[in-house]
Amino acid sequence: MIQMNEDNNNKKLNYFIVDSTAIIHHFVLENELQNNDILLIPELLVDELKSSVSKAVLTVLEAEDKIIHIDPSSKSIEKITGIAKETGDFTALSEIDLQVLALSLDFPGSVIYSDDNAVQNVCKKLDIKFETFQFKIKHQREYFWKCTVCKSKFTRKFENCPDCGSPIKRYFKKK
Ligand SMILES: [Zn+2]
Repeated sequence: MIQMNEDNNNKKLNYFIVDSTAIIHHFVLENELQNNDILLIPELLVDELKSSVSKAVLTVLEAEDKIIHIDPSSKSIEKITGIAKETGDFTALSEIDLQVLALSLDFPGSVIYSDDNAVQNVCKKLDIKFETFQFKIKHQREYFWKCTVCKSKFTRKFENCPDCGSPIKRYFKKK
């Protein structure tokens, strides 16, 4: 993976910050990380991951230098705490949420992936870019399956087409 490190030195890095194991799971499934994409995982979340199935996937990404486990600076934690108290979101934020938001200040231009409303509110207040997976799953990434031969459509996966026995393929339903 030395090649990849050399690439990283020449390109602008894109940082993505994730706030829960579920989100990490979706993120890894839905996004193909490019050479210059880095996934930032708050230290607190690392503990949670020890018992998670995401761990196997993460181990691979880690070996490819696509993951950074990191603690945000205390300066950023302070700033986020102040803003969240202003917006009234502070009591709804977990410690991991605070770390995620603070990390986005430490890595300007990063994108937060979170389905948490309080996190999203603080992002809006600070003009931090964020994405939610609930939205994606519901509206953009619904799947259906279609037979490659007779073109029958199915809402779930089959080994082979129940109508003609040919292979079936998965598609995304476009909004
Ligand atoms: Zn068929």
